[in-house]
Amino acid sequence: MATERADVIVIGGGPAGSTAAGFIRLANPERRVVLFEREPFPRHHVGESTLPEMNAVLHKLGVLPKIQAAGFVKKTGITYKWQHDQPLFSELFATGVLSAMEQGRAALADCAFQVERSRYDAILLEHARSLGVEVVQPGRVEGVIVEGGRVTGVRASRGGGPVSEWSADAVVDASGQARLLSRWLKLLPSAHPLGDLAIFRYYAGFTWEEELVGRPEGSKIFFAACPAGWIWFIPLSAERVSVGLVTRAPFLERMTAPELFEREVAAVPELERLLRGARTTSAPGEDGAAPRTHTITDWSYSHPVAAGPGWFLAGDAAAFIDPILSSGILLAHHSGLSCANAISTLWRHPELPAEELHAGYSAYYAQLYGGFLAMAQWWYQRRKVSGIDEWHALAARLGDSARGARALNHGGASSFMTFAAGFLTDFRFVNLGVGYGDRGLQIMADQQPGGAGQQVARELLDRSALPRSQVKSASVESYWSTDVESERWWRLPEVRLQCEATERRYRPPVPLAEREERGIQRTLSLVSHVIAACDGRRSVDDVVRYARDRLGAQQASENQQLANLILTDLVLLGAVTLR
Ligand SMILES: Cc1cc2nc3c(=O)[nH]c(=O)nc-3n(C[C@H](O)[C@H](O)[C@H](O)COP(=O)(O)OP(=O)(O)OC[C@H]3O[C@@H](n4cnc5c(N)ncnc54)[C@H](O)[C@@H]3O)c2cc1C
Repeated sequence: MATERADVIVIGGGPAGSTAAGFIRLANPERRVVLFEREPFPRHHVGESTLPEMNAVLHKLGVLPKIQAAGFVKKTGITYKWQHDQPLFSELFATGVLSAMEQGRAALADCAFQVERSRYDAILLEHARSLGVEVVQPGRVEGVIVEGGRVTGVRASRGGGPVSEWSADAVVDASGQARLLSRWLKLLPSAHPLGDLAIFRYYAGFTWEEELVGRPEGSKIFFAACPAGWIWFIPLSAERVSVGLVTRAPFLERMTAPELFEREVAAVPELERLLRGARTTSAPGEDGAAPRTHTITDWSYSHPVAAGPGWFLAGDAAAFIDPILSSGILLAHHSGLSCANAISTLWRHPELPAEELHAGYSAYYAQLYGGFLAMAQWWYQRRKVSGIDEWHALAARLGDSARGARALNHGGASSFMTFAAGFLTDFRFVNLGVGYGDRGLQIMADQQPGGAGQQVARELLDRSALPRSQVKSASVESYWSTDVESERWWRLPEVRLQCEATERRYRPPVPLAEREERGIQRTLSLVSHVIAACDGRRSVDDVVRYARDRLGAQQASENQQLANLILTDLVLLGAVTLR
């Protein structure tokens, strides 16, 4: 069998594969990156509604202008019909996202897009090609080569021709729900019981009812709960709309998929109005074919181990979370970026322990999808007993509990819309501080009225409060992280703070430019000086000044800012109390 050589092989040309391959080439233009995509494009794909937060990744990849110019319907907000006896919830991303953008990404659009995936995926793949990725299409990966416990390549065919062996430093599995590598390597995914089946159709000639779905120049996605699950309504153009039911397979025991779909749509009066006079039409990418009712598996799963020697899982190949939050494409782009950064890091820093970085990628990805999973689970559990107001209040508490969000205009709707726009996974929040992932979701689980977050936000405004440390002892460990601002992964400090009976884990902020030994030492020194100064006698400002002065005159104003952030985080964590 002929053997060919690439530096990286990517399986699959969906959003995760194109992103991973594109970023590898951007950072390493001398490397050979070969991507196999089994389908000729354009091809139909479900999953059409994106989130504003991921624009940062598209921007970094250089493809955002092409997406913006493609004429996709802008998505400016969402409408939920949560319960039939509750008023509609309809809100714009601008309510929450714009204030988040003011903190550094103002140049990026405050809207997302409702995309025909046949065109969206083709633009991304073409962009990867323009960055020098060799795209083999149609090219089918048939098997993986494992030597001494390491993935060293794949077996693949071009255009239905004979199978060749390919060797590579790394194989990225972005094969979507085919999950090729995990099947071949016998990795067991964890299942998360939410919906497990989706039934969907396309219609032409629907009614643009503004409160529900906005206007063609600025649309909203409409979600409606229905007796057997929930329904999405995604306008894809002025004419065509994607309508889908997420449900569970047992509902099909007594009726066919089209019957169940029609029964559920008819149970929501708003859908009946939107679809009055509309006719079924073909799917994007299947133009000219007869309209049909599509069914697809929709079970949520994740792989606790998402990387190992010579391999990475990205996008749906790593995890799939119920589409109630439209998070799939965002996760595909972010994981594509993260595994590209990991591969670049291992090439440039062979001294770094690869196993640690692989484990770091798995942990990091779990945190990334974990936020969406928790919110989806919460939605499924609460759908029958509570309304949007409750989620509103929860989102406000969740927002208040994280360092970044506190600076936002965090009313209930604003926090909710910030999260609904995908900022749940904002790297600045997750990586560089307390993060929604840890503390926020814990508060969500606790659901304590008047939770810690709100008190903290109020108390920190009072600069004359007297902070007192609750820390009995501290030790330092590390964790791995990357973000959209950088091309590599970093080993950053995680401080374990023993406070009375409980342990708090704290990931202090380390400025991007200084994530090497010196910067890390500076941050850790500030943490220890802040804790030492919190004796219940100094004010907030005195504590900050004390920590700043201990580090000398160099970088004094930066040190003051950092000390202020650290003190805020420690209060949020409950490691320091205020009186
Ligand atoms: C019912 C439903 C509704 C959804 N709604 C949304 C939504 O509104 N918003 C959202 O963001 N997400 C949504 N999603 C999720 C979204 O579709 C996925 O998360 C996204 O497509 C993942 O991208 P990916 O690149 O990982 O995989 P994919 O987009 O599936 O791409 C994988 C590619 O790998 C190729 N491939 C597979 N096997 C091989 C092989 N052997 N050799 C070569 N190539 C191969 C396939 O042809 C495919 O092109 C939804 C999903 C479902 C099921």
